Amino acid sequence: MSAVVYIGPVGWRRSAACRSADPELFFPVSSDGPSRAQEDQAKAVCRSCAVRRACLQYALAANEVYGVWGGMAEGERRLAIRAARDLAAPPAARGLSG
Ligand code: SF4
Repeated sequence: MSAVVYIGPVGWRRSAACRSADPELFFPVSSDGPSRAQEDQAKAVCRSCAVRRACLQYALAANEVYGVWGGMAEGERRLAIRAARDLAAPPAARGLSG
């Protein structure tokens, strides 16, 4: 049995700049070669998006694994999550004395 996690309303999607963009741009098959250009194009759309912050918050909360969300690619989101987790760790766990 899996848990159901409420991640909030997603009304921000109505104002998404990517609504009129090619969805394939946002889900490149890799981060190399031609896919890299797709990812860059997707991020350019995100830079003009009025709901970028809400989109990124949603993706992080929902643990969206694939695609560009809120201007960040998969690997970038993983690094952001890891950095936030490290910052939330107690000082001793980070190698800092209290
Ligand atoms: S930030 Fe990017 S992926 Fe998110 S809604 Fe805006 S354009 Fe779409």
